[in-house]
Amino acid sequence: MEHETQPITQPFTVALLGNPNCGKSSVFNQLTGLRQKVGNFPGVTVDKKLGMIRLPGRHAVQLIDFPGTYSFYPTSIDERIVVQSLANPSDENYPDAAVYIADVTKLEKHLLLLTQLRDLGLPLILALNMSDVAEKEGMEVDAYTLSRRLEIPVVKLSGRTGFGIEALKYELQQLCEGREHRAPSLFYEFSAQEKRLAEAIKDIVPGANLYQALLVAHHYVWLPFLSEAQRKLISDLIATHGFQPLRSQVNETMQRYDKFTPMVRMSLRNVRSATRSITEKLDVLLTHQVAGPILFFVVMLLVFQAIFTWAAYPMDLIEQFFAVSGEWVRSTLPAGWFTDLLTDGMLAGLGGILVFIPQIAILFFLISLLEEVGYMARAAYLFDRLMQAFGLNGRSIVALISSSACAIPAIMSTRTISNWKERLITILVTPLISCSARIPVYTVLIGFVVPSRVVAGLFNLQGLAFMGLYLLGIIAALLSALVFKLILRTQERSFLMLELPEYRPPVMRNVLLTVWEKVRTFVWEAGRIIMAISVVLWVLASYGPPMAMQEAKQEALALAQERELDETETANMVAARQIEASYAGHLGKVIEPAIRPLGFDWKIGIALITSFAAREVFVGTMATIYSIGSVDDEYTVRDKMAQERDPVTGKPIYGLATSLSLLLFYVFAMQCMSTLAVVKRETKSWKWPLVQFLYMSGLAYLSSLLVYQLLS
Ligand code: GDP
Ligand code: MG
Repeated sequence: MEHETQPITQPFTVALLGNPNCGKSSVFNQLTGLRQKVGNFPGVTVDKKLGMIRLPGRHAVQLIDFPGTYSFYPTSIDERIVVQSLANPSDENYPDAAVYIADVTKLEKHLLLLTQLRDLGLPLILALNMSDVAEKEGMEVDAYTLSRRLEIPVVKLSGRTGFGIEALKYELQQLCEGREHRAPSLFYEFSAQEKRLAEAIKDIVPGANLYQALLVAHHYVWLPFLSEAQRKLISDLIATHGFQPLRSQVNETMQRYDKFTPMVRMSLRNVRSATRSITEKLDVLLTHQVAGPILFFVVMLLVFQAIFTWAAYPMDLIEQFFAVSGEWVRSTLPAGWFTDLLTDGMLAGLGGILVFIPQIAILFFLISLLEEVGYMARAAYLFDRLMQAFGLNGRSIVALISSSACAIPAIMSTRTISNWKERLITILVTPLISCSARIPVYTVLIGFVVPSRVVAGLFNLQGLAFMGLYLLGIIAALLSALVFKLILRTQERSFLMLELPEYRPPVMRNVLLTVWEKVRTFVWEAGRIIMAISVVLWVLASYGPPMAMQEAKQEALALAQERELDETETANMVAARQIEASYAGHLGKVIEPAIRPLGFDWKIGIALITSFAAREVFVGTMATIYSIGSVDDEYTVRDKMAQERDPVTGKPIYGLATSLSLLLFYVFAMQCMSTLAVVKRETKSWKWPLVQFLYMSGLAYLSSLLVYQLLS
């Protein structure tokens, strides 16, 4: 057989559609492997996954993985993407054809959206996924009958084993060559009134067919491609035709079910459910009111331990690698600003980015494993009621818990929360949970606040104080969530889909691709911002007005000579004087009046500024300022700080009031540029990282102010 070979200008675009959890991503991964990239749907924060497939007949096909959807009546922003892309033939994401993935073991539910897609008139293939499960359960599916009834090609598939992928590619090729396109026959019979309305709307939306026009009538209020004038026209039309959207929606849905339910019955035989009963047995325990949450915390404890202990080794390696290569560059290149920029600015910045990879990779490895197995849906279900009370989502619990290791992977894990408002609130409050970077700061400061004493014969007072700081973070996070719940507006309805998938062994390909995607987006997208900020911070801390820097150096050298210091001590003295004379030092002095009421002097001011790179930098900066040099030991820094006296009053600077105030500041303040960079990436705007920075800094400032003023 012959067909015309036309030069392909635009790649043939195929949409991958289906209900949530139908196995869409698995099939996407099977079809595209690593030929994936992540884009963006216009105007929203939903990721668009694109993949390329090359078919036997040299056709390049572009695949778009759309968010999972139950029907064209969306309940979340993710689902709206599907409607807005498909109701408008001129949308940039309007595909040339679609592959509809249905979970064959749940056909009675999954065909609703398919029949709606049929009415769009797109060339369509039905892929019956999870055929391996169906087979195990002794379920026979008659694809031929289904194909005849639905009038589209039907392929049996397994996203797990790869069974049927070649058959699917073959059908896709047929579609590309235009051999399989059958004329649309509407599944839904419009009422006379709906028909008149839809005909009228067709004149307003160019290229729309009758069903698309009806969808526009249902969703015109939010559909982004309509102008205000068009909205007004449509709203008038709806009024004149007496269109009742809810009634129409119910009618349509009922009619569709009535049509396809017999088809499903006809093509399925012998349903016996073995895995379902295993799932039910497991769920008695895992979703039990008391045992469920306890087991969940045990699981999370393990995850959390893994991040802490396993990640420590590769993190050390990465840090050592960058320390060694920094020294190597320093000894190879001639001394000068360029070498400094390369080592202290860029290499340090790069190290600061890459050091997060182990935590991100481990967290996502474990979380997507739990997701794959089917457990995460249970966890979300267990905590949903509680979390909803704070404006959060059952799935937020994972982010909140894992951010006690690090907020960055935690924020990236909120991608599974489909309600935008709940996801945003989770992102905004997550960094309030004390992360591991706060530990060194707490260690240095806690000694100034509480003595190391055993109370009640068992607890160390400092340990209790540590726990108190963590609790404070948790309470602050929940209360802030509550405030955001009241402030932020949304049109999305919030409810959890209580469809719990069956437990099944994980597909490693999916797990590893998730890890890869998370690491890659962090390094490329957040990494660039982190790099830029670290170079700026480096400039601030190592440069100053040239005269002042020179003077500081001379003074330090003179002083060192007078005191007969050795070489390292002299270098430390110079570093201390120079950071004081640097722009960061100047900034520290500039902000001193603002932080004076919190009990902070300009030295702490410098540390606050440099801590913006990462909180643990506090200890290093303090070491430089007090000319200690190396910071092998937090306790050296602490001893030095303990000796600091106020030149006027002669009292210790780090008394109870200042230390407690500083501690609180570090509990609440947003001092992590990497987190802000990730928030920018996840919310796709600078607005939310800014909001987060301001509210957390405000919280930190006010609480420190209150404590210092009360105690001093
Ligand atoms: P999505 O939500 O539609 O993207 O679905 P996923 O691809 O994430 O799959 C949901 C779950 O079903 C995962 O645990 C997959 O491992 C599993 N899964 C996907 N396809 C198959 C399949 O064909 N057979 C089996 N047994 N499991 C599958
Ligand atoms: Mg998916």
